[in-house]
Amino acid sequence: MAKMYYEENGNLEVFVGKKVGIIGYGSQGHSHALNLKDNGVEVVVGLHEGSKSWEKAMRDGFEVKKVEEVAKECDVLMLLCPDTKQKEVYDKSVKPHLREGQAIAFAHGFNIHYGQIVPPVNVDVFMVAPKGPGHLVRRVFVEGKGVPALFAIHQDFTGKARELALAYAKGIGSTRAGVLETSFREETETDLFGEQAVLCGGVTELIKAGFDTLVKAGYQKEVAYFECLHEMKLIVDLFYEGGFENMRYSISDTAEYGDYVVGKRIINEDTRKEMEVVLEEIQTGKFAREWILENQINRPVFNALKNKELEHPLVEVGKKLREMMSWIKK
Ligand code: NDP
Ligand code: MG
Ligand code: MG
Repeated sequence: MAKMYYEENGNLEVFVGKKVGIIGYGSQGHSHALNLKDNGVEVVVGLHEGSKSWEKAMRDGFEVKKVEEVAKECDVLMLLCPDTKQKEVYDKSVKPHLREGQAIAFAHGFNIHYGQIVPPVNVDVFMVAPKGPGHLVRRVFVEGKGVPALFAIHQDFTGKARELALAYAKGIGSTRAGVLETSFREETETDLFGEQAVLCGGVTELIKAGFDTLVKAGYQKEVAYFECLHEMKLIVDLFYEGGFENMRYSISDTAEYGDYVVGKRIINEDTRKEMEVVLEEIQTGKFAREWILENQINRPVFNALKNKELEHPLVEVGKKLREMMSWIKK
């Protein structure tokens, strides 16, 4: 088992006399800022002029300043604006103001691992990446619990980067659940692979393929929607709580038998081979290059595919059916 770090491994005293700058006040930004503040850490929020989040951060009780100001006055700078904007924000508003011994932190390794941001050698660089969306990081913290996280050290100039990273993880509540050490490379590559092959790309295509097969064979769209999309959550909840064995305990023996004999025909050797190709494209930087260039030319492929996805029949039937389910939040 990999080593887990808990409350006793993090020391909040590390932050005494230090200021933490949170750049960006979105999903992760607001939760890190609020959790750290509740743990007694001095936090300043950094945003760009005209930012939509400026008011919200002020209402939540923060001192909000331009990124440049925050870069100058803070000891730890956590970059929580979108990954696609971080390079620009860093180059324009952070880099010119960096001082020896400051720390720059990330919640995802992309920009460091693929060399988009290259900090000077005389600062610490670490990552604390919660394994959950920002709103959960806040909600769970308020309930007295924490969302697990990964941490990694890219550069340890002061000799204290590890201590600082663990203190930060404690500050946002993650050591309450458990924190695991990784590297920027491992976090970046596994995160990209997971979202592409399994969590986002894999799952949505699997659902669409099942839905399309049923509809093409003449079954009602509504029934196909319930079967392939709606019930997915119910099954996922079972293995989230107790592993596949718990899910298989709950389903019928008929479903369990079908699971064993048919699953491998759907996710077969070809799929596994393609997963290896996808992973290789992440490891060689091919995917990163594509995505970075795509952003530089205002996302033509991203926008076209986004619109095309909205034309899939699942979208319309889903909208109607979810209206019937009063318990689903709009
Ligand atoms: P968001 O998209 O929620 O961040 C948006 C925030 O960044 C807003 O406050 C936005 O301001 C601000 N922002 C936009 N441009 C700038 C700028 N030029 N200068 C300063 N602030 C700016 O980001 P996420 O929270 O999703 O992601 C932040 C980091 O956390 C990423 O590295 C991501 O990979 C990582 N991460 C995210 C997870 C998640 O749950 N979303 C999970 C784990 C890691 P405005 O309101 O004006 O637009
Ligand atoms: Mg992820
Ligand atoms: Mg990701």
